[in-house]
Amino acid sequence: MADRDYYNVLGVPRNAGADEIKKAYRSLAMRWHPDRNTGDPVAEVRFKHVNEAYRVLSDAEERSRYDRMGPLFQPDGQQPTPDDVSTVMNRMWDNLFGRRRNTPGDDLRYTVSVTLEEVATGAQKDVVVPRKVRCDDCRGLGASAEGREVCPICQGTGRSTGARLLRMRCYHCDGQGFVIKAPCKTCSGDGVVGREESLKVKVPPGVATGVRLKVTGKGNDPVGDGTTGDLYVLVDVPDHRLFRRRGDDLLVEVPVTLRDAAIGADVVVPTVDGTTTVRIPAGTQHGQQLRLAGRGLPRYRGAGRGDLHLEVQVEVPASLTDAERARLAAFVDSLPPDRHPRRAAFERAVQERR
Ligand SMILES: [Zn+2]
Ligand SMILES: [Zn+2]
Repeated sequence: MADRDYYNVLGVPRNAGADEIKKAYRSLAMRWHPDRNTGDPVAEVRFKHVNEAYRVLSDAEERSRYDRMGPLFQPDGQQPTPDDVSTVMNRMWDNLFGRRRNTPGDDLRYTVSVTLEEVATGAQKDVVVPRKVRCDDCRGLGASAEGREVCPICQGTGRSTGARLLRMRCYHCDGQGFVIKAPCKTCSGDGVVGREESLKVKVPPGVATGVRLKVTGKGNDPVGDGTTGDLYVLVDVPDHRLFRRRGDDLLVEVPVTLRDAAIGADVVVPTVDGTTTVRIPAGTQHGQQLRLAGRGLPRYRGAGRGDLHLEVQVEVPASLTDAERARLAAFVDSLPPDRHPRRAAFERAVQERR
């Protein structure tokens, strides 16, 4: 779809003759030629546009088709799609009300590391974000008042010439109404400058790795018109030495001695905000879990907390001396079989298979 006015691209009136069109094309093609603008992406695009405009306007048949169809003209000779029609309608609507197209500033991304302890309470994190902000010296226009000149093509209106309803943004000045003669020294004419900005980001309780926090209006400022982008802070919660996380629940492995598991004991265990003492009941088996309700993590954007699960791990004494081995063997051998009911049941089941 022709999203530029070809007459405006070449800077010629709609009734321009073939010679005038050719002359305008030659001077613009020279100005934007890639050989004279090495590595400049703007020049590259403009050169393509100038060529496209000339290809259409230099061909009498194509030109009259373009004059009839206006913005619905397809340079490849195709029929406009319903999408094209609605885009053109929207553009007319914008033009009718003199609205300028908004080109928002880029959104920015930043990853912040949050400890499990901070997840439990919520945190305020200091981040330094490299942003592009509007240049104060030229107020984002790319040049001071002396460095600007009224656009000779649109006479400062920012609109291209043409049938009233089909008017578009002036191509030569990108709808700004002025062209830059001497770019602002502070921003080299970009209108924006890079700045490291220190921000405080509020991290709510209960966040997990992958949560995206939006900080409105802290992305890049736009070049020219438009709204400032947003900053998206991506949360990363590294693994914890003691706690494993399952959603809002936490799981911690608690190694206990044979003795404590057998006869019970009060054991100090870690919680996310300190420690607490729990009773390991007599006869607790390896792998058994105890649950401390509401001692897990707060729910993200919700009420209440998850649970803390304690997984008891019976640690069997290792590297025993001869004397220790003898005492342990004497004790275990002295027990009747029903002190180890699972072992006894297992032995019976194996026996039956013989
Ligand atoms: Zn500036
Ligand atoms: Zn203009």
